[in-house]
Amino acid sequence: MSKTFEKLKPYLDKAMALQTARSLFEWDTQTLAPFGAADNTSKVNGILSDEYMKSLINDDVRQLLKKLQEEQEQAELSDLEKAIIKELAKSYEQLESIPPEEYKEYNELTSISSRKWAKAKKDNSYSDFAPYLQKIIDFKKKFASYRVKDGKTPYEVLLGDYEECFMIKDLDAFFDKFKAEIIPLVKEVYKKTDTIDKSYNSLNYDIEKQKEFCKYLSGYLGFDFNRGVIAESEHPFTLQLHNHDVRITGRYLENNLESSIFSAIHETGHALYEMNIDDSLTQTPVGTGASMGMHESQSRFFENLIGRSYDFWEPIYEKLVEAFPENLQNIPLEKFIKGINKVSPCLIRTEADELSYCIHIIIRYEIEKMIFNNEVTVDDLPKVWNQKYQDYLGIAPTNDSEGILQDIHWSFGEFGYFPSYAIGTAVASQIYEYMKEKMPVSEYLRQGNITPIREFLRDNIHKYGATKNTNEILKDLCGEEFKPDYYINYLKEKYSRLYEL
Ligand code: ZN
Repeated sequence: MSKTFEKLKPYLDKAMALQTARSLFEWDTQTLAPFGAADNTSKVNGILSDEYMKSLINDDVRQLLKKLQEEQEQAELSDLEKAIIKELAKSYEQLESIPPEEYKEYNELTSISSRKWAKAKKDNSYSDFAPYLQKIIDFKKKFASYRVKDGKTPYEVLLGDYEECFMIKDLDAFFDKFKAEIIPLVKEVYKKTDTIDKSYNSLNYDIEKQKEFCKYLSGYLGFDFNRGVIAESEHPFTLQLHNHDVRITGRYLENNLESSIFSAIHETGHALYEMNIDDSLTQTPVGTGASMGMHESQSRFFENLIGRSYDFWEPIYEKLVEAFPENLQNIPLEKFIKGINKVSPCLIRTEADELSYCIHIIIRYEIEKMIFNNEVTVDDLPKVWNQKYQDYLGIAPTNDSEGILQDIHWSFGEFGYFPSYAIGTAVASQIYEYMKEKMPVSEYLRQGNITPIREFLRDNIHKYGATKNTNEILKDLCGEEFKPDYYINYLKEKYSRLYEL
């Protein structure tokens, strides 16, 4: 280890410890904390984030970082040290630009606003959340403006925080192509949606049995219960303290079996990524997934490409039937597979079918672009939202809970995050095509053998953590950078076949 790096390490360790404490509070807030805790706990969060910032943004670290960047040119650093320096420089640029007072105020705000959002959603009252959303947007615009450079727009600064390889021109090209090819297909399929019956899915499914089955599914995919736990929350998510403590949540609805099953598979995909990060990287700035897009590629890979396939369910469907014989004993596997791939008009992103899912993302992306280009006011957001759903999917929400208030992201200040879901979904298709060339994926699935698939992902993606970015991973793995065509062609082929178009 370089001598300078050795001096930096205690600062990094302290920052990581404070970050871990903040994550633990976030986990608690979303799962077990009583509703009334929000206001007081947000003060604690504010202080912790203030300390986190001070532990990184100070003269000592600034000088060490500068020295290390010089040493880097003289090749005195290991690859891991270089990757950490690069990541640290990125956080430095992000954090240093924000005055500490504003950063603290912002963290207190988002800690309260996520609770306000939950209540507004429950009460179907956008006007209760709108003032908080306005404040968050004002902060994000201000923070982004501090970091605008190299001809980037404020929205691109935010996009870059989640996925550095994709700027507006890349996303516009991807989404324009997607809209041109998939929206007409969705509209065609909608005309035939009644040809698939999945009324079995909305019968009564005991919540405890759903939890049990979802736990089984996570374990089947490789979730390690010695290093992970599963809890419940309003919006399923994954959070890691390090690679030996990875946590996921589920959400269970009595009259929607698929909702919990596919959330469980999705979050398990995220969890496997974090659990498989190399021990040498965990608890360092590169000890997490490469980007949000790459993370979503892993969750969507398991959720869609694996989890909606016949081969995956062949060895385990019997177990699902055994859990709910009253509802499923007369539903053959073929019918179940058609059911889980059924396309039908849906207003809720997290419950959308695979074919139209990306359109939900495009709507959010276009609205975020409008917000940051000052083309829409907070008051007009519900109207714009509803109009886009009408234009692209031919359906519109009748209330804000199933419209503008449905997602938690903006209440946390996560603008620029949504495109990661679409990028990830497309990356998953690209990886899947390549994986099928390298191994008999179908055969493994039919044998109930997930291990080779998981190990392939671990060895080519997971173990590297954030030492490589999305395009570097894709290039090393598939020999080419991001290409959305695999995803678009996969959808066209699969759904034309399923609906006999
Ligand atoms: Zn996800």
